[in-house]
Amino acid sequence: MVLVWVLHLYQRKFRDAGARKRAATQWLTFLVIGLWMVAWLFHQFRISDEWLILVAALAAGLFVWQRRLLLPFSWRCAQCGKSVSIVCMMCQDSNTCEACEPHATEGERTR
Ligand SMILES: [Zn+2]
Repeated sequence: MVLVWVLHLYQRKFRDAGARKRAATQWLTFLVIGLWMVAWLFHQFRISDEWLILVAALAAGLFVWQRRLLLPFSWRCAQCGKSVSIVCMMCQDSNTCEACEPHATEGERTR
């Protein structure tokens, strides 16, 4: 959870070039917090743990349904298929390697 939040803060350096991936980490954080809150509420109101399976199934369904929004990360370049750097994978929306599209340096606006 903390790692996702740290990643989200790091992604802010890339501004517009990583807006989609920054939004994805934010949504993933909301999803995890939501699951924690539901588990806490179930515990507080002494609801049987079996119902958590239903909540987990709903969360998994939401995850699959919105996978393009939640998981825009790719190891491969979108143009040539070569591996991209971890920074590009986690922070650059273009998903392209340096050879296909030179990236702006951290904090530089691309648009
Ligand atoms: Zn490439």
